[in-house]
Amino acid sequence: MLIVILFGPPGSGKGTQADYIAKRYDLQHVSTGDMLRAEADRGTALGNEVAPIMAAGNLVPDDLIVRVIESRLGDVGGHRGILLDGFPRTVAQAAALDAMLERVGEHVDLLICLDVPEDKLTERLLGRAREEGRADDNLETIQNRLDVYQRDTAPVLDHYRANSYTAIEVIDGDAPILDVSGRIRDAVDRHYRDAA
Ligand code: AMP
Repeated sequence: MLIVILFGPPGSGKGTQADYIAKRYDLQHVSTGDMLRAEADRGTALGNEVAPIMAAGNLVPDDLIVRVIESRLGDVGGHRGILLDGFPRTVAQAAALDAMLERVGEHVDLLICLDVPEDKLTERLLGRAREEGRADDNLETIQNRLDVYQRDTAPVLDHYRANSYTAIEVIDGDAPILDVSGRIRDAVDRHYRDAA
């Protein structure tokens, strides 16, 4: 199985690129943000618990997100692998993921990090706020999400740098969507020439 993490700060284009990569390499796209938003929209107990946390731009507790992801990883729906988008977001989540995968003899094969300068991220997220009206895309929450990324999420990169199973590709994400897609495709192909 091919297990890929799409990594990067909020606004770096993970969601957009994830759809493309998932299709091209026949991976199950697993977005924890999408899953949590769907729960919140349906007004489930879980959704009601996480909605205020998401609206403030904070991370939901590790144990909760690990339970959510565990229920999804068991079923890859006939795809040849999994593309994780928005998970893991803390070193504790990464360790939990590694342990889950190890139990079934798997590991994270590739981590693709989309690198975009912070002023561009803010600009993009404000643009998305106008277009999509996401509850957490406002200036105050955006700044908090970027701070949370630097503090809690960026260290996940070092966690995988220390993991000999996982290849790391840092991609310049400050370019038109199709150019970034091309760079990601080249990176995945470098590791999996037979994957496409
Ligand atoms: P995203 O769509 O990936 O930007 O996620 C939106 C929000 O969902 C985040 O700001 C968090 O509040 C929550 N969230 C998504 N994924 C995670 C995760 N792996 N750990 C904790 N919170 C998460």
